[in-house]
Amino acid sequence: MPFRYDPGELGPHEVEIAVSHCGICHSDLHLISNDWGISQYPFIPGHEIIGTVTAVGAEVRGLEEGRRVGLGWQSNSCGRCEWCMKGMENLCPESEGTCVRRNGGYADRVRADSRFVIPVPDELESEQAAPLLCGGITVYTPMRKHGINPSSRVGVVGIGGLGHLAIQFARVFGAEVTAFSTSAAKEDEARKLGALRFVNTRESKAMKEVAGTQDFILSTINADQEWASYMQALRPTGTLCFVGVPPSPVAVQAFPLISGARSITGSPIGSPHQLREMMDVAARHGVKAQTERFAMSKANEAIEKVKKNKVRYRAVLAN
Ligand code: NAP
Ligand code: ZN
Repeated sequence: MPFRYDPGELGPHEVEIAVSHCGICHSDLHLISNDWGISQYPFIPGHEIIGTVTAVGAEVRGLEEGRRVGLGWQSNSCGRCEWCMKGMENLCPESEGTCVRRNGGYADRVRADSRFVIPVPDELESEQAAPLLCGGITVYTPMRKHGINPSSRVGVVGIGGLGHLAIQFARVFGAEVTAFSTSAAKEDEARKLGALRFVNTRESKAMKEVAGTQDFILSTINADQEWASYMQALRPTGTLCFVGVPPSPVAVQAFPLISGARSITGSPIGSPHQLREMMDVAARHGVKAQTERFAMSKANEAIEKVKKNKVRYRAVLAN
């Protein structure tokens, strides 16, 4: 039985969207199993949404009924704090997640504050663009922040939903890309997506061979790893950046941080302004998710396939 709820009156700054597509991000799986201790049930996951505006609140400007739009992880922020004022709404302490204490996009309708509802460029197909709204922005923002450019050597760890988009954006920025993966079967596709090199992380010899070669390593995996070997893969001044969430604390020696002035950091999604920029870059440079489509009613089947790391590379639910 589908779950039904009454969303009440539309707020003056809110937009209602008829969902046409919603990607399945691994964060949905974390929320389903309450890995982060923030889930509330009954729970509607979904935060890689594309759809059509069906209603706008009285104060909403610049979005009208019928417009094709996207909505990602974030649905609202306070709009007044230092971070919101700087256009870094994704860092707002009062940030609201689209499917955290709100009803998400595995649904026929969803609502959000209009500032977080992003027009979708005509060049982008909805099914291939939906995963950009969370997976895409999460890998785009840290690469922009860290100034990835043609002289950069970028490592992408985990070739899943986020990782396969990270390879593509790193190539758009002109970087040389190394894919780090536990799945030898993904090598050909990783190369087609733009990776110059493929490292099977299950082979310690292969990991040793890339020691001292990377400027920026983006980890998209949600599992514990021998992080010391990724620190060793960094060149001096290199950065290991976490976007995937491993369950255990990340333990590394201080010595490689000190001796090579290396850094460890993390990054959460991106701001509405960066979402707009990323969608435009994706449209002009042909970045798109490789997707497997499932009917919305088959959400449970799709989730099981994601859990088994069998999807190439993003499952998208369609109404
Ligand atoms: P995904 O599509 O399931 O991909 C994860 C990839 O990690 C897999 O394809 C696999 O790549 C690798 N992997 C999986 N299990 C592994 C294991 N046991 N050991 C080593 N590698 C493993 O997931 P996703 O949607 O890209 O999300 C990845 C992570 O990012 C999740 O933790 C999610 O919550 C997080 N996330 C964070 C943000 C943020 O704002 N920071 C936003 C979105 C998602 P290979 O087969 O290539 O090894
Ligand atoms: Zn997500």
